[in-house]
Amino acid sequence: MQLIRSIKKIRDFVKQQKKRNRTIGFVPTMGYLHEGHLSLVKQAKKDNDISILSIFVNPAQFGPKEDFKKYPRNLKHDIALAKKANVDVIFYPKVSEIYPKNYKTHICVEKLTKYLCGRSRPGHFQGVATIVTKLFNIIMPDVSYFGQKDAQQAIIIKKMVQDLNMQTKIRIMPIVRAKDGLVLSSRNIYLDKKQRKEAPILYKSLREAKSLIKNGQKSASRIISMIHKIITRNSSGVIDYVSIVDLENLEPVKIIKNRVLIALAVWFGKTRLIDNIII
Ligand code: AMP
Repeated sequence: MQLIRSIKKIRDFVKQQKKRNRTIGFVPTMGYLHEGHLSLVKQAKKDNDISILSIFVNPAQFGPKEDFKKYPRNLKHDIALAKKANVDVIFYPKVSEIYPKNYKTHICVEKLTKYLCGRSRPGHFQGVATIVTKLFNIIMPDVSYFGQKDAQQAIIIKKMVQDLNMQTKIRIMPIVRAKDGLVLSSRNIYLDKKQRKEAPILYKSLREAKSLIKNGQKSASRIISMIHKIITRNSSGVIDYVSIVDLENLEPVKIIKNRVLIALAVWFGKTRLIDNIII
């Protein structure tokens, strides 16, 4: 496994692979790897000749009061996991390599970025779209892998790739959870014991919503208020949002007729957790 830090070197590597007609599967991450990330790597390896994993904690997607500085980082641990997963290359650029002084260009995907996490994290998805575009331009992957964990991100990236005629295919992989249902996330490390114990209530509330819908409940507001109740009665979680939205345009749905995304974000202390389910 190679660790490459410069754009020039990763480009040279990619060029060589393409000359040999090898396909490239790409997994962009912010590191502090866990089984969720590794599920994307596994698929990338299955579908392609070469796998590239990027680790870059992208300052552009953090708000001024968010946890950019504190975001967990552990390169040694990441290298060990990536080696075990047989990743071919880790691309690990410096911030100054990606955003040199006087950097000016940003990517804005309209509308889809207004809802859900976009409301509470203004600028977040612009930062995501910008870094993903830059990484696609640097690596020119055949297929790129994202997690359903970040459902809104996945929808935005797909739209961006379509709108800007980008060459890569996008594959969205299912959410990987801990045994008790909590979504695996690098940020789970922030949770104290009590919060960690309470946090699986998020998935429980979504499963409860699913069974209500299966039993005929069609009113989104009823389901949302039931989710609120379950979370607030059973945990110290403070709800940022619970929304039921259309799977394509992310607009809120009032009456559930077709497939919908139920997404939520909840604060446990200073840690904001997200989860979602498609029904
Ligand atoms: P991150 O490092 O948190 O930016 O995540 C990098 C990629 O891994 C994103 O596409 C995430 O959606 C995906 N990912 C993170 N956690 C999980 C998980 N528990 N299950 C599936 N995909 C995940």
